[in-house]
Order: sequence, then C-alpha cells, then structure tokens
Amino acid sequence: ANHSKGNSKGSFELPEIKFTKHFINGQFVDSISGKTFETRDPRNGEVIAHIAEGHKEDIDLAVKAAREAFDHGKWPRMSGYERGRIMSKFADLIEEHIEELAALDGVDGGKLFTIGKIMDIPGCIHMLRYYAGAADKIHGETLKIAGEYQGHTLKEPIGVAGIIIPWNFPSTLFFVKVSPALAAGCTMVVKPAEQTPLSALFYAHLAKQAGIPDGVINVVNGFGSEAGAALASHMDVDKIAFTGSPEVGRLIMKASAESNLKTVSLELGGKSPLIIFDDADVDMAVNLARMAIFFNKGEICVAGSRVYVQEGIYDEFVKKAAEAAKSWVVGDPFDPTVQQGPQVDKKQFERVLKYIEHGKTEGATLLTGGKPYGETGYYIEPTIFTDVKENMLIAQDEIFGPVMSLMKFKTVEEAIERANCTRYGLAAGIVTKDLNIANWVARSVRAGTIWINCYFAFDPDCPFGGYKMSGFGRDQGLHAIEKYLQVKSVITPL
Ligand code: NAD
Repeated sequence: ANHSKGNSKGSFELPEIKFTKHFINGQFVDSISGKTFETRDPRNGEVIAHIAEGHKEDIDLAVKAAREAFDHGKWPRMSGYERGRIMSKFADLIEEHIEELAALDGVDGGKLFTIGKIMDIPGCIHMLRYYAGAADKIHGETLKIAGEYQGHTLKEPIGVAGIIIPWNFPSTLFFVKVSPALAAGCTMVVKPAEQTPLSALFYAHLAKQAGIPDGVINVVNGFGSEAGAALASHMDVDKIAFTGSPEVGRLIMKASAESNLKTVSLELGGKSPLIIFDDADVDMAVNLARMAIFFNKGEICVAGSRVYVQEGIYDEFVKKAAEAAKSWVVGDPFDPTVQQGPQVDKKQFERVLKYIEHGKTEGATLLTGGKPYGETGYYIEPTIFTDVKENMLIAQDEIFGPVMSLMKFKTVEEAIERANCTRYGLAAGIVTKDLNIANWVARSVRAGTIWINCYFAFDPDCPFGGYKMSGFGRDQGLHAIEKYLQVKSVITPL
C-alpha cells in the first residue's frame, strides 16, 4: 500500500445528475419499454443514476427523427458558415460548464477531475471550434471532361450517421465523431457506452440551447448488444463511426454487410510500443514511460503498454521504473494530488487482474504492483512486468489497465521487428537523441501515430487512427470530414 497519498474514501460531492433519459428529436424521453439500467461510481461501486435503457424501438424512433431532420430539416441545407456559427455557440456553452462536465465523467468513469477540467473538456471545445471553422470550407472540384463536357463535384453530407463510442473518453470521443459530422451537415444518433452514459446527455441539452435543430443530434443510451446492434444494422442509417474493441468492430461490419451496406469506420484497440534507445536521458524516458501506461489508469487505446529498452540502459531503467511506479499516486479521482483513479467498472477491474495472473503464470517477473489497491472501489496498483516474451498474452493482448510489459533489445532492426509483432498498429513512441534513428523507426513501425521524444501529444488537426487490426479510417484533421460526405459528379455539355 505504498502507492497512495490520495484519499480513496471520496472527497467530492456527487454532481447533480440532471439528465437520465434518451434525447430524441429535441426532447428527453423515457424508453418505450420503460426500462432503465444502473450506472455506478467506480470509487465505491455505488449506483449513481438510473438511465433510460434503449432497445431497438428507441433506436428506430431516434433514427426516424434523424432521417426527418436530414431529409427535410434546415441543418443539411443551411450554409456551412451558419452551421459553423451554431457549432461555435455550442462550444461557448460547454465552456460555461467545464467543471460540471469533468465531474460527470469523474463519477461515471473514475477519470481525474483535474485532468477533465484542463484537458478532456477543453479538448472537446477545441475540437468543436476546429470543425466549426471548417464547416464553410467544404467544396468540390471543377472537372474538364473529354468529349466536350464539363463537370463539377458536389460534396454532400452522407445522411444519418450512427456514432458508437466507448467509456474511456466519454466526452472526447463524443466530439471526435460528432464535430466533423455536424460540420458536414449530417444528422446523427449517438450510442454512448453503457458504463458512461451521463455526459453525452448533457451535451445534447447544450446542443439544443445553442440552436442545433431538433433531430440533428439524438442520444440513445443502452447496451451494445441491444441499442448498439440495432443502430449498426439499421436500414436507414447511412454510416457507422465506431470506436471500441476489434471484436465489436467485426460485429459492426457484419451488421452493415447484412443490412444496407452502410459505410463503416473503425477506431479499435492498440498494444503500442515505446522504444527507448541507449542515448536517451533515463529519467526523462522513465517519466514518459510511466505516463504512457499509467495515464487514465491505462484505459487508453494508445497506451504505451510494451516498453522496449536498449540493453545499455536497461538495468538502470528497470530500477528507476520500479521507483517511478511506486511513487505514482493512486486514489480518489477528485483529489487533485492523485494521478490514477479506479478502473471504470468491476468487469474491467477483474479483467485487468486476470491478465496480471496470466503474466505471472506465463513466467514474466512481477517487478512492482500486481494487486488491487485499497479496500473499496476498482483501484489497481501500477504494475510492471519484466522478462516479458513476445509470445506471452500480456505482450499481445490489449489489457486496458495500468500494466507495463518491459523488454530488452539490442539493435534498431530488432526493435522495429518486435514493435511490429502484434496484430495492432495504433501508435508508437520513440525516445532517442539521434534523429536519423528516430525517423528510420518512425517510417518502419506500422502505426497511425508516432511520437518522438513525447507521448500523448494530440491536436484536432492531427489525423488519428490505426493500421492492421487497430481499424481503418482516420478521425481528426480536415479529411475526417470526408467520412461524413458523399461526392457527386455533375456533368453538362459545353
Ligand atoms: P466495446 O467494443 O465493448 O464497446 C464500445 C461500444 O460499442 C460501446 O458503446 C458498446 O455498447 C458498443 N457495442 C458493444 N457491442 C455492440 C454490438 N454488438 N453492436 C454495436 N455496438 C456494440 O469496447 P469497450 O470495452 O467499451 O472499450 C474498450 C475498447 O475501445 C478497447 O479495445 C480500446 O482500445 C478501444 N478504444 C479505441 C480507441 C481508438 O480511438 N482507437 C479509443 C478508445 C478506446
């Protein structure tokens, strides 16, 4: 129990939970079935709210509202400038509620309140403003066509977008998808994760206040196998934008294939390598590695979960990494001195502990951590394994918890080969002073984001997504808008 200086009992009053129903066609409504499900505080497992539980009939209602708003409403037809103006107002309203929104994600997901206030929620505002500024810059091309024709392309919104997101960044991932969809002129149905249903409802309320017309953003909470599956297989949904696990990504593609062949974009998991070379400043590298895996309690798709350290500094790194993990502060996410809150729920908590047991039985050495932390709640000690082999489950599977696998390498070629040896390809980190090596590795690692001498640096302008089984399509950046657009060729004789 030498991990915590924080107060795991809970030092913060619950924020008022104002919204628990679905948001459909501009109104908060109960489920047609009248059913609700519980959302819990991971600090103690207590129920914090009963949330309307969406089923197929609720999804049908939400899709109908989105369809109507798309086919006959103002949003797809107004100028991009006007859409951008309303989106900016939406961003301004979020800015007035930063604390409340960070608190909702804190009690719902065990996320650090302070980080929510300075990173997650301001990041959402930034995302929304970025796409607000892009909404009036969506345009086609003129075409000179052989045989005395001329033509042009029109970019049109794709239609009704279905947006399905996970629980680890409930606010950020909402805006990563919703913002470009709004800029494109789409209407949408959002299905948040069942573990973190709260903040999306608050955003829907603020969207209405900002002047986004009814039916443009609909939010239906509920379980993936019910509400999520109904959205993915809906005949009147034109696109699914998904972030989550590869297993569910497959189900979503299958649902599209077996319904109306809607387009699909998938942002899936990761098992990202952080490669540290002999010339690195060891203290800086240890700090970076610690943050890369323990930030957001390891519940981050780009977590640097495989740390490769070159042999010359390996022993020193191991010693310092153990100390760094021990001084990482676990505790109540509302305590500003705490660096790691509880895992999102009991299921995730047990899943991570099971992987830790696997690591031990597979023959890896438990350097530090490895146990639940505290008496109540879903806290886990920052954990490091050494002597990890590539064929072990803990080196291949996404654990989605505070578990680092530490490995030693000799040459650049070996580091590249081992970095590429999982089925994932979401991100990678490189620590070296040698820019030639950094660029060589950056070109050779098959991953969508490469950080050199940094980690977790994000911006709405940086495309984000995966290679291999980490998915396809890119979120963020201007071309993410293309995912929510159709291109039409219009041809006339000269
Ligand atoms: P998950 O795939 O189980 O759930 C994600 C969402 O899909 C939830 O809203 C869930 O309700 C829904 N869902 C579940 N079954 C469904 C079905 N049959 N049809 C339609 N929707 C369904 O993932 P999770 O465990 O909640 O989240 C963790 C995963 O998300 C990890 O693998 C992580 O790497 C990934 N993730 C990826 C990114 C990224 O950008 N690449 C970001 C965050 C998380």
